[in-house]
Amino acid sequence: MSYDGRVRAVLGIGSNLGDRLALIREAVAQMRAVASVLAVSPVYESDALGPPQGRYLNAAMLVDTPMAPLALLAAMHEVERHLGRERRERWGARTLDLDVLWIEGTSVDDAALTVPHPALRERAFALRPLVDVAPLAVDPRDGQRLADVPRDDASLVVFGYA
Ligand code: AMP
Repeated sequence: MSYDGRVRAVLGIGSNLGDRLALIREAVAQMRAVASVLAVSPVYESDALGPPQGRYLNAAMLVDTPMAPLALLAAMHEVERHLGRERRERWGARTLDLDVLWIEGTSVDDAALTVPHPALRERAFALRPLVDVAPLAVDPRDGQRLADVPRDDASLVVFGYA
């Protein structure tokens, strides 16, 4: 946490159902109501993990907020609900998925929230947009710069911009 009690965080956004780009744009717009959005990455397309389903669009945004991590997560769930997220099956298709990928200088190990996001290092579709908006971000657990974590950028194509 910074000296003034605000935190900087990178939030991941994903969608593979409905008008995916419009949903990502709307999620960014709705998050602007609860946090200062400092930067938004390009929107990348990639194949889905898990059961057969449509391709995903993913992006990330750097936000600055006075909210505590669990309050931020609650605000994100509210946006997911507004935008009609259906939680039918784990790993299944979803209109909108918002994740806390990283918080500056902070790790969280709560039953409802793990930060940095546990799968961040293995997922180019999360790591690449994070590095776009926070190129100097380091993992608070070991100090490694996240831009230096190897990732498979070849699995991603730029789809558009939010
Ligand atoms: P999912 O349906 O796969 O998006 O999982 C959502 C659940 O994961 C939420 O209810 C959160 O409590 C939990 N969770 C744990 N860590 C995180 C994180 N870093 N970002 C978002 N959700 C998280």
